[in-house]
Order: sequence, then structure tokens, then C-alpha cells
Amino acid sequence: MLAGRIEAGGPELAVFDHLGFSHKERRCLDAPMHEDVAKVLIDEEVIEKRLNILADRILEEFSGRQFVVIVILKGALVFTADLLRRMPIPLEIECINVASYHGATQSSGQVNFLDSKLPRVEGRAVLLIDDILDTGRTLDAVGEKLREQGAEIVKSCVLLSKDKERAAKVEADYVGFHVGDEFVIGYGLDYKGLYRNLPYVGVLKAEVVEAGE
Ligand code: 5GP
Ligand code: MG
Repeated sequence: MLAGRIEAGGPELAVFDHLGFSHKERRCLDAPMHEDVAKVLIDEEVIEKRLNILADRILEEFSGRQFVVIVILKGALVFTADLLRRMPIPLEIECINVASYHGATQSSGQVNFLDSKLPRVEGRAVLLIDDILDTGRTLDAVGEKLREQGAEIVKSCVLLSKDKERAAKVEADYVGFHVGDEFVIGYGLDYKGLYRNLPYVGVLKAEVVEAGE
């Protein structure tokens, strides 16, 4: 629980938690996750700046129309939460659960829909959000499914797009960053369920991945 104590006199207001640590100091104390990271590819500050630009672009296209945002869980959770808070227009949020990596560092090649029911999209404009575009199978399969269910428009947005040849010929309408073809974690992206809560996008140390294989 935040005690809400405000540091007086400093150049910035810092809210302290009940242990007396600021958020920044606390992040340094939570070092074990950071120790597994070989390099930071995109830091928090750069992500924040890029989100402002992305949100403005999406707003230009979507403002004035009713639309539903569909979040592909769990990877797009962190990105979506930060992006949508920059979009002060009426919108609905729905989630769908699909899996293709199954805890590994390579795509299984198959997209599984894990929900028994999909959101109602008939006649609606949809903004589909995923964390990363890799082989393209996920965006392709989900986009296709939503169109089958009668969505009028399906636009897609990803935080990251890997520059590579795709198995499915699909590109996202909005892209945060282009990255190389390597396995990344953080800011929503996981390795074996972990690292989603890192505030940046990075690459794990080889020994961490080897230990998990
Ligand atoms: P695609 O279907 O385009 O091959 O892959 C999309 C999904 O695979 C993403 O939603 C994400 O869950 C997972 N994925 C692809 N590349 C990476 C990566 O580099 N790191 C992580 N953690 N997940 C990835
Ligand atoms: Mg995913």
C-alpha cells in the first residue's frame, strides 16, 4: 500500500511506499530479474515517447467512431495499458487468449485459441493489439477469425515487429519499434511466464535460456 507521503523540497515529487523507498529505488532493490538480462534493447523512456506518437496516430484514425480494442493476452497487456491511457476517447476493451510459443523461444507454428467464446465484433471497428509480430501467424489467424465473426474493420497494432520473412503474409497497421530476429523479453513479453514486468524490452543472457531448456 502506498502511504502517499510526498517528499518535500526536492525538484520532483516522489511518492514513498510504507518501507520508505521511492519507486525508483525499489526497482533497484528488485535486482534479481535484471541480473538475467544481457542487454536492454529499448528503454522505458524511449518506449514512453514512442507511445505518445503511436497513440496520436491511432487517435487520428479512430476518433469519432465507436470501436473495440482487442488485446491479445498475455503479452500485449502492459503495452495496451500504457497505450490506451494516452487515448482519451470512448472505446471498449476485450481480451482474447491465444498461444503459439508455449514457453519456448521459437514459435510452435500453430496458433491456439484458448477461449471458449470470442468477443462480439459483428459490424464493429476493431483495433487488435499484440506485443510482437514474428512469423505473422497470430495476427493473421486472429484477424481472420474476427473478420469471419463479422468485424467491419480490423486494424492491428504491435509494440514490436521483427524484421524477417513471415510465414503468414501480414503486417501491422501500427508498429512501435522494429527489432532484429532475436528472442526478446520485458514490457509484457515473457520467457516461461517470467520477465513480463520488466519496464524495458531486452534480451536474456544465453545461460538463463539454456538453464530453462
Ligand atoms: P507470431 O504468431 O507472429 O509468430 O508470433 C506472435 C506471438 O509469439 C507473440 O504474440 C508472442 O506471444 C510470441 N513471440 C514472438 N516473438 C517473441 C519474442 O521474441 N519474445 C517473446 N517473449 N514472445 C515472442
Ligand atoms: Mg502473444
